[in-house]
Parts: sequence; C-alpha cells; structure tokens
Amino acid sequence: MEKIIRLALLLILILGFACSEQTETKTDAIEKKEQPTVSFTFDDGITNDIANYKFEDWNSLILNSLNEAELKAVFFVTGFNKTDEKGTFLLREWDKENHKIANHTFSHPNFNDKNNTVEVFEEELLKTDVIINQYENYVKYFRFPFLKEGKTTEKIDGIRSILKENNYRNGYVTIDASDWYVNSRLIKQLKDREKVDTLAFQAFYLKHIIERAKFYESLSYELTGRHIKHTLLLHHNLTSALFLKSLIERFKSEGWEVIDAIEAYQDPIYGSVPKPEFAGESLIWSLAKESGKFEDKLRYPAEDSRYEKEEMDRLGL
Ligand SMILES: [Zn+2]
Repeated sequence: MEKIIRLALLLILILGFACSEQTETKTDAIEKKEQPTVSFTFDDGITNDIANYKFEDWNSLILNSLNEAELKAVFFVTGFNKTDEKGTFLLREWDKENHKIANHTFSHPNFNDKNNTVEVFEEELLKTDVIINQYENYVKYFRFPFLKEGKTTEKIDGIRSILKENNYRNGYVTIDASDWYVNSRLIKQLKDREKVDTLAFQAFYLKHIIERAKFYESLSYELTGRHIKHTLLLHHNLTSALFLKSLIERFKSEGWEVIDAIEAYQDPIYGSVPKPEFAGESLIWSLAKESGKFEDKLRYPAEDSRYEKEEMDRLGL
C-alpha cells in the first residue's frame, strides 16, 4: 500500500512538473509574439542647410535610414515653406519613396493661445491641404503643433468638428520626446566649436528616446492591458539625419518590432477621443490623465527641454 502511495506521489510530482514546464513555454511564446511595436513620424519639414550639411544631403540621410530598414513613415508638414523650389523638392522626395504626407498646419501656431481661434485653425488646415493634396501619398491626418489642441472645451470641440467635416483624423503621437532639444544643442556646438563629439550626442539621444519609449509603453500597457502600436514623434532635423539609423537598430536590439506608421494608425487606440479637459500632449498622456490613476507618474508639460538640460550640461553636450 505504502509503495502505491509513494508511486502515486511520484507520478503527481512528475505530472505537475511537466505541466508547469508546458505553461512556461506557452507564456514565453505569447510574450515573444506580443513584443512592443514602434513606428516613426516626422514633423515640420525644413529646407535649409544645417552647419556643414547641405539640405539635400541631410534630408537624404533620413530617407536612406528608413529605406534600409524598409520602413515607411508619416511626414507631417507645415505649408508655409513647401511651395518654393526647395519645399516642392522635399515633398517630392518623400512622396517618391512612398512615405505618407500629412498636415501640420500652414504656419505652426500654438492652439492653446487664445488668438489662434477655431477660424484660424480652419484656415491653417485648408491652406496646407491644398499644397499637399496633389501628392500621391497624401493622407488626411492632422498633427497639432506642440501637441496643443486648444485650452477651452468650446474651442477643442470646434476644432474637432472642423477636422471631422474635412474627413481628417488626429495624427496622434503616443511616444513623445525632446529630440528637437538635443538637435538644437548639437547645432549650437557645431556652430560654436571646431571639434564636436557627435558620438556623445548620439549616445545621449538614443538613451533619451528609448527611455521615453519605455515610459509610454509601460503606461499604455497598464492602461490597456496590451502592447499598442506606438507612434514616435521625431522631427525633420539633423539628429534624425545622423542618428535615425542607430535608433532603429537600438529599438530592434531592445526587442521592439518596427512597423510602418500608417499601419500603426490602424490600432484601435487611435480612435480614442479624450475629454476636452485632458486633450493635448501624447495620446497616452491624455488617456492616463483622464483615468485619474497615474497622478504620480504624469508631469506637465509631459516632455520638455527642462527635463534634459541638467544632464546635457553635465555631459558637456
Ligand atoms: Zn511641429
């Protein structure tokens, strides 16, 4: 009898072990499939030479990095500088490579400013629409300058109605960062100094963007219980030209899947409409703020030079 009991116990132990082994493999498989996902969007579109880099050359560096990774971006452009020869060249180059061309106003106003009314918004939207709608890869996505969607409920609702009437969708950002600030400090050094440690700038840039990506990924995971398809906000600038290739590689080596931006926008998260009092900043910031559950994690503004300055000063960047 005792022997039978011992045998049964042994059997239970073996079976239990086998089962837990199986569950573990299954979980591993799910985790691998559900890796975080990121896509790339670029704002503004400038057409001047930067330090020693000719406009056509630094612009090509961005396009080459996307090409090598077989990635398509969404390019949110301002209209004011896109009708002259250089502006037209820029849009043609991006359109030719099948990156989507979207709307980022005509003159880049801040819609939290009371002078920039709903009427101003409509004018800004339509003026740029006319410029970009002739391109093959034109899409009706709109991105707010500075991610500011207006301060009062009335104005935000008014702007949302105009977007809807014109069949435009909000070109939301889920991962916000301060690439523009790193860019401005790099350019300043290139102008002021004979020797600049570009690699040190690259290291800071990669660390900063990946850190912000992880922050918004963990916030969105807590909010939704899944890995959403992220949209990273970068700018058409020198840091994108010099560091985008390494950034894409870094995302991959950290386990992120990189996808086309227009595919990311198919994620249902982009159908969210935060209440007006929480509109603006990144979409994840708005939704987290609206939930009221993350007060200890949310700062305002969500991203800004003030958070990076001290560390960059310390590093001599
Ligand atoms: Zn902008």
